[in-house]
Amino acid sequence: MWNQLSDEDRLFAEVTRKWVDRECPKDWCRVLESREHEFPHKLWDKLVAFGAHGIGIAEEYDGQGGSIITQALFAREFSRTAAGLSWVWGVTSFSGSKTLKFCGSDSQKKEFLPKIARGELKTAMSFTEAGGGTDLLGGMKTSAVKADGGWILNGEKIWSTGADVADYLLVMARTEKNVARRSDGISLFFVPRHSEGITISPLPKLGMRAMSSCTVVMDQVFVSDDLLLGEPGRGWYQSTKTLNNERLINAATCLGMLDGVLEDATEYMSNRTAFGKPIGQFQALQHYLADIAMWQKQGELMLFHTARLQADEQPSAVESGMVKIICSEYANRAADLGIQILGGMGYSAETDMQRYWRDSRLLRLGPISNEMARNMIAESYGMPRSF
Ligand SMILES: Cc1cc2nc3c(=O)[nH]c(=O)nc-3n(C[C@H](O)[C@H](O)[C@H](O)COP(=O)(O)OP(=O)(O)OC[C@H]3O[C@@H](n4cnc5c(N)ncnc54)[C@H](O)[C@@H]3O)c2cc1C
Repeated sequence: MWNQLSDEDRLFAEVTRKWVDRECPKDWCRVLESREHEFPHKLWDKLVAFGAHGIGIAEEYDGQGGSIITQALFAREFSRTAAGLSWVWGVTSFSGSKTLKFCGSDSQKKEFLPKIARGELKTAMSFTEAGGGTDLLGGMKTSAVKADGGWILNGEKIWSTGADVADYLLVMARTEKNVARRSDGISLFFVPRHSEGITISPLPKLGMRAMSSCTVVMDQVFVSDDLLLGEPGRGWYQSTKTLNNERLINAATCLGMLDGVLEDATEYMSNRTAFGKPIGQFQALQHYLADIAMWQKQGELMLFHTARLQADEQPSAVESGMVKIICSEYANRAADLGIQILGGMGYSAETDMQRYWRDSRLLRLGPISNEMARNMIAESYGMPRSF
């Protein structure tokens, strides 16, 4: 991987790794994650001090610059210790700054991107509804109807991560009912979280516990015209670039967790003894470790291959699905073996294997489920659409 990176990106990865070890050690992240529905503001502040929210935002908007490769490097290094808590960074970077970059107007970019880059503004993505995450368009009941000077939104979203602390919610809503294709007539809105008519409730969940995922009920919520992103009715097509980027970052997050698993498993195998010798001498466990190492290498190659395609603006939808599947499944299998290697301590809340397992488990089912991602890969090889 290293020989494919520019000198600048290589240096950035090294600096990030040192920062992560110094400022966000695993034991600290473990404690933060265990505090259900308590957003880790201290972690956010550290990210602000490091300039993490400005990665991928152009310097003219007060960002740090950098490409999707730089963002993937950051996601990987940060997730090695933060695991799923890396979404404290990722949610705003992908729901907010990416969408603004791809479909915001000049004045929207000028207004919001510098605030995101400086860590003054948080955003959350509110796409999924109870009626369907995979069948997002078929299940979408949230509507936006044109009114004087804006739009009136009604509907209910589910699983919106970080919605409880966000300043703005990126909401996908149907603006036209009579359309030729379900993907037509969808629009994107940047909705102020404190708007009248919005009720947000966190949901209990298996992992990423400090970062709440919430239901968002919208009852006659007025959103002014200047908060519509891009063209009305084209919201689905406008969001696909962000979603492809997000899949790559999901993969990078999983690869970071896999790095953490490999690191912790190696250390434990070297120090723990059984039958008078380090457990690392047992061949069965060595094979587990070898598998984890091979998965890491495969994930890494695919990650940077896809990141390069995205950075060069080459078609990458299929590769983005592939790398998301590969890294989420490898990371989750690796964490499962990691628990086996650590024995009882792997199941203990005092080590990180359980955290890697819980957080990588999520990324097998979302933001796109691995079944749906496989459907799309098969379709790209000439198979008929199965859904
Ligand atoms: C912790 C968490 C955080 C989340 N954060 C966000 C967020 O910030 N913003 C947001 O908008 N959403 C978020 N989501 C939602 C997430 O994207 C969805 O859960 C995901 O898309 C799956 O949708 P679903 O849960 O409705 O499952 P369903 O669509 O009901 O799927 C159930 C099962 O059926 C399978 N299935 C469905 N259709 C097909 C098909 N055509 N072929 C094969 N299998 C199929 C699925 O793969 C899955 O196994 C989050 C979810 C969770 C759990």
